[in-house]
Amino acid sequence: MEVLNDFYRVAENPYEYSRELKKSGKRIIGYFCSYTPEEIISASGVHPIRLFGTGGDITLADSHLQPYCCSLVRGALEEALEGRLDFLDGTVFPHTCDSIQRLSDIWRLNTNFGFFADVVLPVKLNTESSREYFADILKKFRLDLERGLGVTITDDKLKTAITRYNNIRRSLKALYEMHSKEPGILSGRDLWAVTRASMIMERDDLLVKLSLLKEALKKGGRSGKSEGKKRLVLAGSVCDHPNVYTIIEDSGGVVVWDDLCTGSRYFEGTIEENGNPVESIAARYAERLVCPAKHLSNTARGDNIVRIVKKHDAGGVVFLLLKFCDPHDFDYPYMKEFLDRENIPSMLLEVEDSLPSEAQLKTRFETFIHML
Ligand code: SF4
Ligand code: SF4
Repeated sequence: MEVLNDFYRVAENPYEYSRELKKSGKRIIGYFCSYTPEEIISASGVHPIRLFGTGGDITLADSHLQPYCCSLVRGALEEALEGRLDFLDGTVFPHTCDSIQRLSDIWRLNTNFGFFADVVLPVKLNTESSREYFADILKKFRLDLERGLGVTITDDKLKTAITRYNNIRRSLKALYEMHSKEPGILSGRDLWAVTRASMIMERDDLLVKLSLLKEALKKGGRSGKSEGKKRLVLAGSVCDHPNVYTIIEDSGGVVVWDDLCTGSRYFEGTIEENGNPVESIAARYAERLVCPAKHLSNTARGDNIVRIVKKHDAGGVVFLLLKFCDPHDFDYPYMKEFLDRENIPSMLLEVEDSLPSEAQLKTRFETFIHML
């Protein structure tokens, strides 16, 4: 499928793609974490791209961050200090986990990308006052963007951006659902490339490509064999390891859904299109599938993982956690308890920016999958 190559080109070469975009006159803002209100950045006319770790050695960042910070924030800082993010016109830090909050201070003091904003979101999302506070913070962010970038963000521009992002989220969800129904139509690596590219690609172009991909899949996908493979859910913070999907498939499994902020947590939930735009954006972020750096209720995350497993007829859950990711490390026993109560098997795999050897991973996945 030709259109898949476009997603791979962007997912595998995000900096090359961003530099091309920059040459075409676009300004670019990098962001960390899926709680960043991309719609407001997009309405400012500036292009938002998600920043990931490095995938390479971390040396310069070690002078600023302790080795017990997760490799995502250490790797992102390394990329900035090495000068590889030279296409950025600014960066945005939503207040979520401690590591991202601390990275924000270090970033502000040691890099110079122009625009910089902390979006100090509430931690508790289940009270009326926190909803109001959330909306106020986003109103302030809108003003910060207007002043910092010298632009005007009208309500009409916000409404256009909301519609654009709703369409992207619906398309990604539809794709995931098609794949869950018939996992052979796309490999896990393909789906990784599509979702990763969706956080990088120019969003109107992305919508065209997502629609082309959906049409191509309706005519017949890759026809990879999925019969007899054990259906799994992947859970954690981010998964920036396409090889994980391939190794799971080679071990007799297939990932049919996920609970990742580079997956379903990114696209679940749409924004009300007819209300006050900023308040509607705030409502979607407050109501979306919660990550453990936020609090919605004592059971929201546990109920959600069980619901995902049942809905997608999965036999087990693979927790893929980044080492030193405190929110997910603390959350894991609680999530496991919810799964154990329903007799849903799970396994835990801790990784860094680079994966353990393929043979080692295959043995672990095979052992788990044979147990299901
Ligand atoms: S897991 Fe939560 S805090 Fe971490 S990057 Fe994702 S949304 Fe943000
Ligand atoms: S949530 Fe975890 S993986 Fe994501 S930035 Fe924070 S510590 Fe790192």
